[in-house]
Amino acid sequence: MAAQSPVPRLSSRKCSEMTDGKLAVIGLGSIGSMALWQASRLSDSVVGFEAATPAHGRSAVGGDTRLFRMIYRGNPGYYPILERSRSLWAELEAETGQNILTRCGGLSIGTADGPYIRSILETTRLTGAEHQILNHEELAARYPQHNLRPHDIAIYDPNAGALRTDRAVTAAIAAAEANGATVRRNTRVDSVRETNDGVIVTSGDKSWTFDNAIIASGGWSNRLMPDHLKAATETKRIFLTWFVAKDASEFSPEKFPVFSRIYDDRSMYGAPAVDGVTVKATLDGRGRPTPNPDTVPRDLTPAEINETTETVTEFFPGLIPNIVRTDAFPDLFTKDTNPLLGWLSESRRVYCATGFSGGGFKNATGYGEIAAQEALGRRAFEGLNFVRPQRFTSLVTIDSTRQEK
Ligand SMILES: Cc1cc2nc3c(=O)[nH]c(=O)nc-3n(C[C@H](O)[C@H](O)[C@H](O)COP(=O)(O)OP(=O)(O)OC[C@H]3O[C@@H](n4cnc5c(N)ncnc54)[C@H](O)[C@@H]3O)c2cc1C
Repeated sequence: MAAQSPVPRLSSRKCSEMTDGKLAVIGLGSIGSMALWQASRLSDSVVGFEAATPAHGRSAVGGDTRLFRMIYRGNPGYYPILERSRSLWAELEAETGQNILTRCGGLSIGTADGPYIRSILETTRLTGAEHQILNHEELAARYPQHNLRPHDIAIYDPNAGALRTDRAVTAAIAAAEANGATVRRNTRVDSVRETNDGVIVTSGDKSWTFDNAIIASGGWSNRLMPDHLKAATETKRIFLTWFVAKDASEFSPEKFPVFSRIYDDRSMYGAPAVDGVTVKATLDGRGRPTPNPDTVPRDLTPAEINETTETVTEFFPGLIPNIVRTDAFPDLFTKDTNPLLGWLSESRRVYCATGFSGGGFKNATGYGEIAAQEALGRRAFEGLNFVRPQRFTSLVTIDSTRQEK
């Protein structure tokens, strides 16, 4: 993620007294809140718009935790963003006094010579991420909570952990406001229109003009995006499930790392009992298209319940196999599951930071920084063609590697 010289502007006009600010951030969820925080460090003239309240529970912030991992399979281009995000999570904690990342380590478990472990090791070889390979016996001895299959091994990620989502977003908004950003809560943006003088942002009968705007409205973003990007994106419902342990202390963050277990026939990921009671253990890769992000079905289907219960019964004898809590949230997926991070038009007025395709939270701070720096014209980042919206101008699907949780 190398920095280039300042972005050339098509207009040399400075933020004029005629506008309502330099930058509008539309949507203050996972990534918009971080973009606002970062922008507020660079400019005293940034405004965030949120349809509800920041960190509200029906957005992709919902569900308490998200996995943070530096060990993953797929595009090594994400690794510099992960490294930067990790530093920025620590900065956000230091700036706000909040404990946001529970640093409990992470396990990727699978068959020793199977495709999951092979692809994780291949990506890790390219990124150079710190890791430890645990053979079957070491894994069984260190983490007896996992009922292993005969050929299982694990890759241990010492830098992984569980991000506390609502705390993170609330902290970023507080930090942004402390830096002078304006936050317009309960203000749903209806349209974003470019003119020669700036970007007109409209909500009901009110409108504001900004030099530039970032669209960061998650599962709702395609309502504000051009048609060719509507065709390249889809809002999906992702559900979560939680269980109670027979002995909660065995599943505490001190003893039980975040995990991902992937086989041909079953897959599950999850997090320790950060609340001291409930363990998150959820089927992986079950995103399903949902027509309306405002009415995502929250209940599980009988098939989802059966598969979840069977998988927990096999993987975790220490969990009582009754689902005690479920919920579901929207996220915007792109055709290649890489995000949409970049300018939407040649005029460099409207930027988008969306389409995080079920894997964006871990990098929210890093994505927020890229969006803020680029949208304010401070820096452009190289090596990010795989996230640029321009890859979809002709609706070409580039790479179908799935983004990891
Ligand atoms: C169940 C689930 C589990 C996941 N697990 C992981 C994980 O373990 N690790 C990981 O890294 N990622 C994970 N992800 C993915 C990650 O959470 C998302 O990619 C990320 O949170 C998306 O952030 P966002 O800012 O795009 O959307 P959101 O966080 O949903 O924010 C969008 C915001 O925009 C607001 N908004 C919408 N329309 C408007 C409008 N017109 N005007 C003003 N405001 C508007 C909304 O109210 C909302 O607050 C998971 C996602 C889900 C749903």
